[in-house]
Amino acid sequence: VNGISGVVPADPLARELRQFAERHDLLARGRVLDREPRFPWTEYRALGAARWLGLTLPAEWGGRALPVPQAAVVLHELACAAGTAFAKLCLQPEFSSVLAHHASAELRDRFFRPLMRGEVLIGNQVTEPESGSDVGAIRTRAERKGDSYEITGTKSQAAFAADASLAIVYARTSEGPRTQGISAFLVPQDLPGVRRTVGDDLGERWMRRGQVTYDRVPVPASHRIGEEGRAFGYLGRELTHERVLLAGIYLGVARASWEETVAEAASRHAFGHPIAANQAVAFPLVEDGTRLASAWLFVQHVASRLEADPSPVGAAAMAKWLATETALAALDHAIQFHGGRGYSRELPHEQRWRDVRSGALAHGTSEIMHRLAARELWPAPGVRDARTIRDPP
Ligand SMILES: Cc1cc2nc3c(=O)[nH]c(=O)nc-3n(C[C@H](O)[C@H](O)[C@H](O)COP(=O)(O)OP(=O)(O)OC[C@H]3O[C@@H](n4cnc5c(N)ncnc54)[C@H](O)[C@@H]3O)c2cc1C
Repeated sequence: VNGISGVVPADPLARELRQFAERHDLLARGRVLDREPRFPWTEYRALGAARWLGLTLPAEWGGRALPVPQAAVVLHELACAAGTAFAKLCLQPEFSSVLAHHASAELRDRFFRPLMRGEVLIGNQVTEPESGSDVGAIRTRAERKGDSYEITGTKSQAAFAADASLAIVYARTSEGPRTQGISAFLVPQDLPGVRRTVGDDLGERWMRRGQVTYDRVPVPASHRIGEEGRAFGYLGRELTHERVLLAGIYLGVARASWEETVAEAASRHAFGHPIAANQAVAFPLVEDGTRLASAWLFVQHVASRLEADPSPVGAAAMAKWLATETALAALDHAIQFHGGRGYSRELPHEQRWRDVRSGALAHGTSEIMHRLAARELWPAPGVRDARTIRDPP
């Protein structure tokens, strides 16, 4: 086994997608998106037209119905070739799959199918200024008024705050305890009373995250997704799936830097010999190769069990934090062993580190991932009562 490349199986679809990435020059485009952050509509539409969006979703919705382990291979290869941006674009339908699974057929046909084709972008808005991990504490309210709901509140840290034409907004429809009483709505972002502001991020800058405030925004009742008060449970299933695929993406990005650093360590000379001749350089790279490969095998194991009952919530959480932290350590070594140039924008490693760094926060923080795993190890009342985490009750 030669590091992670020795354990990722060859896959014809992954090869096809790598060729797509080369044809569309996605590696260079990802670098430009970091410097000039904007949503890459051209590439998004091209990915949609070629049916690379929503790889795991059913064919009847326009997906390829790939088993999750295979989708993980395909996205891993794309992330290795071109960074996180385009692999995450491929996951946009999965990120909004509550819409496909729980909304009315009319809503699904009108909005989810165009999402699968890369024609619309849908944001997901859970986090608020006062509650991120603690989803049960959200305060945004949706009050029923005849045939519509009136939404009032503030959502923060939302990806695509600037560019999404629609967002799935999680809001309280009743005063149920904690995570009960939360409902989801598909909200057009051009409705009166919606105001969006964009922040400035460390990485994944093209997502143009920001804050969205809702001031008595009227949303048709037909835009409610699923039953009133059940949305927290819907979100949990979706998050479990996406965490595993994200883990494969982060390992793909780190693999690119690891392979480049192994080559650099052979060709870069100091004191008359290749820097790889120093154990201080070689051993951390050996360890990174070992850890990346091991994390990959664990991710594949969890991916193969995603449809099991009960759902492997804790294992998926472990896969995400393990992959993120393993990838970040390898990317840090890539910066270090490329010397001063590793720290500069001349080389891709610093951007890869900044982009993957989001993995320890988004879709549930690494600490919350530990809590989800701990809850399965110790299903004691003290842990169970802390229903503050992104997971079905
Ligand atoms: C790149 C990126 C994209 C994002 N995209 C979106 C998006 O599209 N939509 C959206 O809704 N949100 C999004 N988020 C927000 C993200 O989901 C939250 O940042 C995350 O859930 C943490 O919430 P918080 O920031 O409020 O931190 P807090 O929940 O306040 O946590 C602060 C710190 O305390 C720790 N902590 C909290 N509770 C516990 C506990 N019980 N045990 C141990 N540690 C704990 C956390 O792990 C964290 O380190 C995004 C974030 C990033 C970085």
